[in-house]
Amino acid sequence: MKLLGRKPPGGMSCHQVGEVLQQYLDGHIDAERAGRIEQHLDECRRCGMEAETYERIKATLAAQRPAVPAESIDRLREFGERLAHGEEPDSP
Ligand SMILES: [Zn+2]
Repeated sequence: MKLLGRKPPGGMSCHQVGEVLQQYLDGHIDAERAGRIEQHLDECRRCGMEAETYERIKATLAAQRPAVPAESIDRLREFGERLAHGEEPDSP
């Protein structure tokens, strides 16, 4: 596993956050870990944006609107796959 020179936000890497992001957003995660993910999403713009995208999709489904933009779902899945392959997000 690749180590970064800096401590990741919330003590979790983007990879770790990506693995549990959906569980977190669905509320299927313990409070301690949820707090760390929250911190990560707060400090990591990229993961924060992905979380927002996912929440928007969920809100759309909950509102039973006719169409969920397929590209949003594709984008989220792609993001998860990239993280699963251990790719790090671009540094600013
Ligand atoms: Zn991140």
